[in-house]
This record gives sequence, C-alpha cells and structure tokens, in this order.
Amino acid sequence: MAAPHHGALAVHVTAQGSSGGEAAALSEFGLIARFFTRPARSAVLGVGDDAALLRVDAGMELAVSTDMLVSGRHFLPEADPYRLGHKALAVNLSDIAAMGGTPRWATLALALPAADPAWLEPFSRGFLDLALRFGVDLIGGDTTRGPLNVCVSILGEVQAGCALRRDGARVGDDVWVSGTLGDAALGLAHLQGRESLAAADASACVDRLELPEPRVALGRALLGVASAALDVSDGLAGDLGHILARSGAGARVEIDALPRSAAFARWAATAGGDSAARARALQLGGGDDYELCFCAPPARRDAVAAAAAACDLRVTRIGAIEAGTALVLVDRGGGVVTGVAGGFDHFR
Ligand code: ADP
Ligand code: MG
Repeated sequence: MAAPHHGALAVHVTAQGSSGGEAAALSEFGLIARFFTRPARSAVLGVGDDAALLRVDAGMELAVSTDMLVSGRHFLPEADPYRLGHKALAVNLSDIAAMGGTPRWATLALALPAADPAWLEPFSRGFLDLALRFGVDLIGGDTTRGPLNVCVSILGEVQAGCALRRDGARVGDDVWVSGTLGDAALGLAHLQGRESLAAADASACVDRLELPEPRVALGRALLGVASAALDVSDGLAGDLGHILARSGAGARVEIDALPRSAAFARWAATAGGDSAARARALQLGGGDDYELCFCAPPARRDAVAAAAAACDLRVTRIGAIEAGTALVLVDRGGGVVTGVAGGFDHFR
C-alpha cells in the first residue's frame, strides 16, 4: 500500500536555489524516483515494483540485519544530512562486517517531516556514495511523513556455515579489537561540551562519530581465522559481554592495552581531573566505535596479523577468553579494575 495508507507526502516545497517565490511539488513517488532510485547492479529487480527480487548464489547464506536511527536519540535533528545518510548505511554495513559477510543489498525506510530537496539531496548522496563504494544496491524501502527516522535493512552473503558468530569463542582464545576505541565517544563529549579538544583532534573524533568506516574487508579476511566476532557499537565492555554470554565463557581484558588514536592520547595526556578514569569509561562504555572485537586461538596470531595487514588496519590483542562468565578488567600490573561503566542499554 502506498500513499493512502501513509498519508500522502505530496507537499509544496521551495525549489532548491530559488529564494522562496517559486514552489515545486515533490510527491512521494517523485522523491523516491529522484533521490533513491538508481540502476540495480546486482539485484534481479530493484526499486519500483511491489518487491525487489534477489538471486543468492548456491552455497551462500544470507546475512540480514536492521538498524534504526531515531532523531533526538541517535542524532540531533539538525545533524548534517550527508553524514546522517552515510552513518545510517555504515552502521548496517558494520553488522555484515561483523559476520564476515559481503554486503549486497539494502532497503531504506524513511519517515520525513517534510519533502525537502535541500535535505534529501545530501542525505541520499551520503547513503548512495557509501553504497557504491561497498558494492551495495539500494533495492527498496518505504517513505512516509513523520518525525525524522531512518531505518535501514541490509542483506549480505557469506559462505554457508562460515559466518563469524558470537557463540564461537573458546577458553584460551585471544581477544582482539581493530582500530582504536573511544574516539567517537570523545567526539560526542566534545560536541556536548563535556570534554574539550584541540580543533584538529576534535574534528578527527567527530568524524569517527559521524562518518564511521565499516570494517568489511577485515571481517571477510577473518573468515576461517576468528572463532567469534561482533562490531563494537555500544561500548566494548557491554559488547564483549555479548560474546561471553553467547559463548558461555568469561574473559580477562587489560584496559591499559586498549588502542588509542593519537587524538585520544593527546586529550588523555592533557585533560585535567580524573581524566584517566574518564578515558577508560569512554573506551569501555562510550559506544559508536564500529570496530570489530573478535576472538581467535593463539595459534592463529600470524593469520590475524596477516588479515589486518591485508586491510591496512591495526589490530590489538587486548586479553583472553577464560573459564567462567565474568569479564574481568585488569590494569597493566594485573590488578583488577572495578566500577567502569558497562555498555549502553536504551531501556536502562
Ligand atoms: P508499496 O506501495 O508497494 O509499498 P511504495 O509505493 O511504498 O510501494 O514504494 C514504491 C517503490 O519505491 C518500492 O519499490 C519501494 O521499495 C521503493 N521505495 C520506497 N521508499 C524508498 C526509499 N526511501 N528508498 C528506496 N526505495 C524506496
Ligand atoms: Mg510502501
């Protein structure tokens, strides 16, 4: 069902570039055709029919995931539309990366307060630029009027039986993380005036928050190497906890080993007060990192290093899987550290 069901999105908008006198009607279907319809490269049938048609290669499994970004909760209403389009797809690509999958197709469900081309043009560009870069076809979606809300579903392929799941970690495995942790949370703290950063470092951290780079190549390179993986979206402590719960194991993580960017390290070295504790909280509970946390047997250390090198990405060994159920955080000297915030939970 289309317009009658949703309430028509035909609104009179001021044409882009005009100074207000000239109004152009942008209908729901005009909007979809102009901003969200591109030739499908790998779908049998893309946008424009009642459903898209996909063909999945024999021997492959489909990896399917959905992530919703809600205005006022995941982003501010005045968020840069190009960056919002990028992030809406990036967080979904990150889920496919965490399975070791190859992203193929995405759908986009949009609630918009108005059909404003000056917003839709950069938003769709941010989304479609990233889709093109990762070989993903936008194959459908839904468009309705309402408070700004962006919901993306992604479909990827992974060789049957090979996906990197959360339940495969075994006692004795190393625990690894890609890239650096805490930058996005520090960027958010800077934007909200809770921390203060030098201009260049602020822009590096805010970029990590608003333009996350999904670790798709690394996830694929870890197939057959990692025993378990997930993407760090809600803070390392909480997210690693999901691997532990699903794998029925505990872990010991050395928090002084958590990788820091140059910007993060500069801030931690100069920020006043209890900046060491705040740095730990940002790295363990901050969220929005979109790095991969994964486990692998110690015998595969060379293979992990080779996978990372092939993707030009840093990986850091931060701990090990242990018997039990607890995530034990230790400092450099092996002393147990308590009282560090857990992962983000929307309902707590
Ligand atoms: P239906 O009435 O069958 O739900 P719609 O009229 O909602 O179909 O959508 C028409 C076509 O446009 C469909 O192929 C749908 O998948 C696609 N579509 C709608 N909104 C979007 C969007 N925001 N991005 C991409 N495709 C969209
Ligand atoms: Mg529809």
